Amino acid sequence: MQTYITQLLQDLKTAQNNLPPPKDYALLYPNHPAADPKYKGGLDYIIEWEMGDEQPMEELFGISPDALPPVELLTNKQAESLCHAILNLWQAFNILADFPDNVPAKLLYRAFRNYWREHPVSYTSVGHLHLEFCHYEPEQCPWGLEYCTCKDLVEEWEKKPVQMTPEQEEHWKKGLQPNGGWINPDLLDENGNIKL
Ligand SMILES: [Zn+2]
Repeated sequence: MQTYITQLLQDLKTAQNNLPPPKDYALLYPNHPAADPKYKGGLDYIIEWEMGDEQPMEELFGISPDALPPVELLTNKQAESLCHAILNLWQAFNILADFPDNVPAKLLYRAFRNYWREHPVSYTSVGHLHLEFCHYEPEQCPWGLEYCTCKDLVEEWEKKPVQMTPEQEEHWKKGLQPNGGWINPDLLDENGNIKL
């Protein structure tokens, strides 16, 4: 197994050093408002964020999820070095994984591997994509109840429901917009228009 892992670590490293070639988004989407020549290319990143395609990690990195061994076959140390290599690879592609500090390597590896298989991502040459593994449903959390930090937040919310006084609620309602949005009423005049 260790021979295989060593080769896989090498492949991850190769992928890390093999970023997709930059695309000229203004050229690809000349009618996008941000492609206007008056911006001199300064807003091309907006076009990239909006128009960039999602693709499976398999395609983006050239490594199939099946190449990542099931966690049951790994030692702790192997899981650790694979997590490390995956995080470095993702970081090179501006992809940042969000997870609590103390999650054991095997749990982390299993979640990374599942993500690799299940979630397409869109690579952007500017800015960052954050990967979330826990969705504030502690029972479903890949870190388990022991390591999940979202459960503390959820408990906090449940303990302290937001209570508004009738005056606060009246004030809050003034901010409701016909389109379903909300604007801080302090910014509005008595007719509900934004104060200039
Ligand atoms: Zn969680």
